[in-house]
Formats: sequence, C-alpha cells, structure tokens
Amino acid sequence: MADFISRRSFLIRSGSAIAVSSFGFPSIIIPRKKEKLGVALVGLGNYSTNQLAPGLLQTRHCELRGIVTGSPEKIPVWQERYGIADRNVYNYETMHTLADNDEIDIVYIVLPNHLHAKYSIIGAEAGKHVWCEKPMAMNAEECLTMIDAAEKNRVQLTVGYRMQHEPNTKTIIRYGAEQKFGRIKEIESAGGFNGNFPEGNWRTIAAKGGGAMFDMGVYPLNAARYSTGLEPVAVRATQHTDRPEMFPDVDEHTNFELEFPGGIVARCETSFGKNMNHLHVSCTDGWYRLEPFLSYTDVQGEASDGTQLPPDTAHQQARQMDNDTLAIIENKPPVVPGEEGLADMRVVDAIFKSASENGRRVEI
Ligand code: NAD
Repeated sequence: MADFISRRSFLIRSGSAIAVSSFGFPSIIIPRKKEKLGVALVGLGNYSTNQLAPGLLQTRHCELRGIVTGSPEKIPVWQERYGIADRNVYNYETMHTLADNDEIDIVYIVLPNHLHAKYSIIGAEAGKHVWCEKPMAMNAEECLTMIDAAEKNRVQLTVGYRMQHEPNTKTIIRYGAEQKFGRIKEIESAGGFNGNFPEGNWRTIAAKGGGAMFDMGVYPLNAARYSTGLEPVAVRATQHTDRPEMFPDVDEHTNFELEFPGGIVARCETSFGKNMNHLHVSCTDGWYRLEPFLSYTDVQGEASDGTQLPPDTAHQQARQMDNDTLAIIENKPPVVPGEEGLADMRVVDAIFKSASENGRRVEI
C-alpha cells in the first residue's frame, strides 16, 4: 500500500492521472489530456533514423519529443532536425530521470536485442509507457520480467510487430478466424535478406542477440501464430552458417517446423544470406498468400478465389505508433501487448533448443 501511495503522489506531481479499474486498483497511467503524447526514442540507429523518426512526423496522436543516446555527436543533428529541447535529451545513465519529465509519456526501445529488457524496465520504472522493438528480448524469462515491470508500474508494454497493424495482414488474420477458405492445413513462410555485416556488428554477435532467427525469423514465426490464432505445441529446427567468418557464433540460416493443434504444420525459414519474403496459407477449401508479407511498404497478396489484396502504401510505423498511442489514451489493450512478444520468445527458446539437439522435436 505504501508503494501505491508514494507512486500515486509521484504521478500527481508529474501531472498524470491514474485509470482506476473496477477493482479499485489503478490499471495504467493515462497522461493528462494533451494534444499529442510525447515519445522518446531510445537508441538512434538505422531503424529510429530512417523509419520511426520520419514516421513520428506523420503521427496524429503522438510526436517525437525526446531522445536517449550514447552518441553525443548525434544530439545536435537530431535536435535541429526534430526540434528537440535540451531538457528532453538523455543518455543511458540519465534515462531513469525521465521520471521527472512530464513531456515524455512513452519510451520506444530501439536498441540491440540484448538491451531491450534492461531499458524497457528502466522506462517502466520511470513511469513511462514502453514500446519495445522485436524480438522482445533474449528469451522468455526476460520477457516475463519486462511484463512484470510494466504491470507493477501501471504502464503499457507493446512490441513493435508492425505487421499486425497492416491492413492486408489483418485481412488474412480474419480469413483464418472465419475459416473463409476452410480449415488451415499448412503454412509456409520465409523471411530473410542477403546481408553483409561489418565485423563487430551486433547482428553477428550471439551475446547481443544477433543471428537470423532473432532478427528475421520472428516474422515467419509471428505470421504462423497470427495466421492460425493458435500457439504451437512443438517445434523442430536446424541452423547452419555458410559464412562462419561473418557469423562466428550466430545462425546465418534457421529452418523450423511448427506443430499446431489440429495437425496444422508451419514450415518456416529465415536467413541472413537469402532474400525471402512470403507467407502462404493452405486450407481445406483454398489458399491465400502475401508477398511481400513483411516489407515496410506494399504488402500485397491474393487468394485462390481470385481475390486481390492490393499493395498498401501507408506509413506502417506511423500507423503502428498512432494505434499504440490510442490504446494508451483510451486505456484499452494494445494490438501487440508484451504477452505477444513473450509467446514468440517461448517458441524461439524451443527453436534454439531443438537446433542445438540436431533438430529433435521439442515440446513447447
Ligand atoms: P542499429 O545497429 O542501426 O542501431 C542500434 C543502435 O543502438 C545504434 O545507434 C547504437 O549506437 C546503439 N547502441 C547502444 N548500445 C549499444 C551496444 N552495446 N552495442 C551496439 N549498439 C548499441 O540497429 P537497428 O537496425 O536500428 O535495430 C535496432 C532494433 O530495432 C533491433 O531490436 C531490431 O530488431 C529492431 N528493428 C525492427 C525493425 C522493424 O521493422 N520492426 C526494423 C529494423 C530494426
């Protein structure tokens, strides 16, 4: 109770209101009515620079108001480009003091994967809603600590799975739920690209959450789960590397086969050495597919009855961030809550276990 009182006095000090659930307990912090909620990007690498920050110029319900960076040379560039005030610039050591900053409502963790849990928790403990990039963390256990921190601090935690906000993807999710083409029998999905990484890049280092499975494999995995609306019960996986000089201790290629209830099988593939980008769902009475299914733009597809799913060209990240902001303002469940990232990481844990045991069937 003492914890709640001190937390409440902090929230009142910081100008936020607490949503009270029907049980009398606060659910999440709802920022005081503002025209737009303030987002701080944590980590200013490629994805923040080229997708999220430009997307935040298009959002209607939130805007880029702060940055957290360990690279001082980036600060003046970002401040000038996005009009970020000095008081909203942080580094990783000062990030916890966001607790005193009412202009920032949301932190978006866009760091290498091994840092997602640590900085999501720092953000939640500062009383900020947390958006975290995929994969949510290094394993399911870390995901649980993140969910716990969000619950304790009454903030929302969402994962940056942008496909689940995408209209053609939503259409095929509906096909699965309505069994429009009968029962799903088989899914085939692959996501990968032919990459060349400089030595020392975090995507090539296991301890930093590198490797194709973490980076691209979560797309076909998440697609198999959202297409069926089911959780896999077992997995078989194999991994190999053609370029050990570039990928000394991470997977360059991973193949995995998921068994779902009802005998549905999903055959999935990911790679850092091959361009792949499709999702095909076979059902008892037909099929449908998306290709590309994971690109930033122009996701499109078709179905066996001749239905065309025309390319969608809207800014995916802007749409995702607006949806996630509305979930906070309206105190409703986000499209992709932390539990969704956790569900994937449970499977990823099993994929690595199976691959380390020569493709043995591992129950989830
Ligand atoms: P990046 O390498 O371009 O940027 C990473 C940033 O983290 C850099 O600015 C780097 O300076 C900083 N950093 C801080 N501490 C670091 C450390 N200890 N080691 C290395 N870098 C450190 O990576 P990115 O492509 O921007 O990816 C960042 C996150 O975003 C990843 O989790 C990735 O999976 C995710 N991502 C998601 C999508 C998507 O479509 N949802 C697309 C790209 C990336």
